[in-house]
Amino acid sequence: MGKDRLVIQPNCEDDYDTGSLTCEVALRRILGAVRGVSDIESVPLREALGRVVATPVVSPINVPSHTNSAMDGYAVRSQDVPESGSIQLKVIGTAFAGTPYQGPLGKNEAIRVMTGAVIPPETNIVVMQEQVEVDDDGSIRIDNRHRAGQNVRAAGEDIGVGTQVLHRGHLITPADLGLVASIGLAKIDLFRRIRVAFFSTGDELRGVGETLEPGQIYDSNRYTLFGMLTRLGVEVIDMGVVKDSREAVRHKLIDAAKTADLVITSGGVSVGEADYIKEVLREIGEVRFWKVAMKPGRPLAFGAIDGSVFFGLPGNPVSVMVTFYQFVQPCILKIMGGQARPEILLKARTQNMLKKRPGRVEYQRGILSRNDAGEFVVHTRGDQGSGILSSMSTANCFVILPMDSDQIERGSLVDIQPFFGIV
Ligand code: AMP
Ligand code: MG
Repeated sequence: MGKDRLVIQPNCEDDYDTGSLTCEVALRRILGAVRGVSDIESVPLREALGRVVATPVVSPINVPSHTNSAMDGYAVRSQDVPESGSIQLKVIGTAFAGTPYQGPLGKNEAIRVMTGAVIPPETNIVVMQEQVEVDDDGSIRIDNRHRAGQNVRAAGEDIGVGTQVLHRGHLITPADLGLVASIGLAKIDLFRRIRVAFFSTGDELRGVGETLEPGQIYDSNRYTLFGMLTRLGVEVIDMGVVKDSREAVRHKLIDAAKTADLVITSGGVSVGEADYIKEVLREIGEVRFWKVAMKPGRPLAFGAIDGSVFFGLPGNPVSVMVTFYQFVQPCILKIMGGQARPEILLKARTQNMLKKRPGRVEYQRGILSRNDAGEFVVHTRGDQGSGILSSMSTANCFVILPMDSDQIERGSLVDIQPFFGIV
C-alpha cells in the first residue's frame, strides 16, 4: 500500500510567521492543510469500531423485515372490529417470534400472536391479550375500540430498504455495529488505518526501568502519546528517544516520514540552544508556524515532511496532552477520513479563584461535579504548571479561560471542556 500525500495547500506566509496565532486560527490552518486518506478496505464488522466509513452503508432490507406484533395478543382484521358492542372471533392458530402462522385467515377469524411474531397479511390490528375475553371454546370476544395499525410494527418502520444508514466519514460507534448487524451485513468499507510515528527528544530522558543519574528524568511523553493515539485506533509506531543532536533528529524524521502518515515529536521546539527541530524541519520539509497564544502549549510546530504531516509538540508533559487534544486529535480524525468532533463546552461556576494573565487562552485542569442544587461546579487543584502531569491525571475536564481575561474570581461562570462522554 502506497503512502498518500496528505499535506495540501502549502502556505508560504506561514513559514515566516513570527507572531502568535490564536488557537482557532491555528486549528483552522491545520485542518485546511491536510486531507483524508483515500485507500478503502472491506473490514469485518467487529474490527470496524472507531474507524471511518468510506462507502455509504445502504440497507439491503427492511427492518423489521416483516410486519409483526409489538405485544402478546391477537391479530385481527380491522373489517371485523364492530362499530359498537363486541364480536366473537374464532382463534384458528398461533404465531410465535420466528415461527409465523401458515395459512389463510378469513372473516371473523383471529390468530394468537406473541411479541415479534409476523402477523398474517390479512390482519392489521393486534389486540392486547388484556383487552380480550376468552371463551371456553378458545374463541375470543373483542370490543369496538380497536384501530388499524394498533400494536403493529410495520415492515421497514425502523429502516426502509435502500435507506442510507451510515454516511461517508462517519466514525463507527457500538450502536453502529448493532445497526449494521441489524441489516445483515458482515463487512463494511472503511478508510485504511493511518500510521502515526512518534519519538521524544532530549539528552536528559531515560526509559522506564533504567536508573536516573542526577539531572535525568523518565520519558513520560511517549506513554501519554501512546495512550492518546491508541484511543483513536491508529497504528502506533513508537520510535523511542533521540538525543539532542541535529543529525540524529534529521535521520529519525526522514525515517519516520517514509512510512508514517503523521509524525509527532515532543521537546526541542522552544527557542533554547538545543531547539533544533524547526531548523532540521526547514531543511527536510516545511514549517508552518511556531507560536500559539495558549498556555500550556506555546510553542507548537506544524509542518510537512515528504507528504507526511508533522507536529512538533513542546516537551512539557501537560503541554503535550493539551496540544494533542486541541490540535493533533482533530487533525488525525480528518486524516482518518472523518471530521473533528464538535466541541462540547459546558458552563460551570468556579469554586476557587483562577490565576491568569491576559494575552493567551489557558487550558487549566479542573475537576467538574454537580453541587446539591444540581449545577455544574468546577475546581482546580494545586500547581497548574505545564510540567505537573498529575494535574492531568486527577482532572476530568479542561477549564478554558479566554484570551483577554485576567484573574477569574471565585463564583464566576467558566467554559468547561469535559474529558468524558459515555459513547
Ligand atoms: P524542551 O521543549 O525540550 O525544552 O522540554 C521542556 C521540558 O519538558 C523540559 O523540562 C524537559 O525535560 C521536559 N521534557 C521533554 N521531553 C520530555 C519527555 N519525553 N518526558 C518528560 N518530560 C520531558
Ligand atoms: Mg529538550
